[in-house]
Amino acid sequence: MNTVYLNGQFLPEAQALISPLDRGFTYGDGVYEVIRAYNGKPFLQDEHFGRLADCCAKMRIGAYLTPLHEVPARLLEANGLTGDALIYLQITRGTAPRSHVFPPPETHPTIFGLAWQFTPNPAWAQGMITILEPDVRWSRCDIKVTSLIPNSFSAQRAKELGAHEGLFVRDGVVQEATLSNFFAVSGGEVRTAPLSNYILPGITRAVVLDLCREHGIPFRETPVFATELHQAEEAFLTSTVYDVAPIKSVEGRALPAEHPVTDRIVSLFREVVRRECR
Ligand code: PMP
Repeated sequence: MNTVYLNGQFLPEAQALISPLDRGFTYGDGVYEVIRAYNGKPFLQDEHFGRLADCCAKMRIGAYLTPLHEVPARLLEANGLTGDALIYLQITRGTAPRSHVFPPPETHPTIFGLAWQFTPNPAWAQGMITILEPDVRWSRCDIKVTSLIPNSFSAQRAKELGAHEGLFVRDGVVQEATLSNFFAVSGGEVRTAPLSNYILPGITRAVVLDLCREHGIPFRETPVFATELHQAEEAFLTSTVYDVAPIKSVEGRALPAEHPVTDRIVSLFREVVRRECR
């Protein structure tokens, strides 16, 4: 049975019990992180913990994160995960009588961790089939909250239409996708929505922008409008789960089959992974 982490303990999944009054259950009141491991080694763990700390601060969840830094490696070890894996960490506001107002400050957050073996879908590297979705999410998409209902609806609709991902469009702008950041390439320039309260500051997004900076690939953080997509030479998605994945089509309209800029970024990204997780 899987070994999981719950509130300071590593224990079999069946023994990891939480109260139904946990605010994660009653309110979806929590934040989470997903960390990728390659060769049994967590990738960009410090960056993920940095974002987790920011999200806890924005949510006014007072969790002490330092002791958690050993959790990913220990979960990998306890579960014999020596190859590619994903690690999930979730922190909720804790267990408290149901009330909209925050529980008393002495309430302990609930902290949960899980790891599992992960094999990327080979179809992703061939090109993502995407659809456009109205972005009906709240206006704090910069916080990685566990309440993912609009993302879940959009991901489900994409699946039912035979697509891999839904692109969230707000005020005409392609902000990001249901579980990844969105990039387009136009006139040789890589473009992605600027950081704002409407997108998650993706860890993979930041690595890709750093790679563009370092290797002289022109880029701009600027809104990409859905109406501009037909002019895009290339488009791609970035996330912990996808790495960097080319987009093959948007709403049934194919993008050019050749995508040299995306290919270059994919290979530069792989080098970073190799360097970090040898
Ligand atoms: N946007 C959303 C809505 C996401 O859920 C994710 C996945 N965490 C991303 C972007 C990509 O972020 P990252 O590269 O940190 O996985």
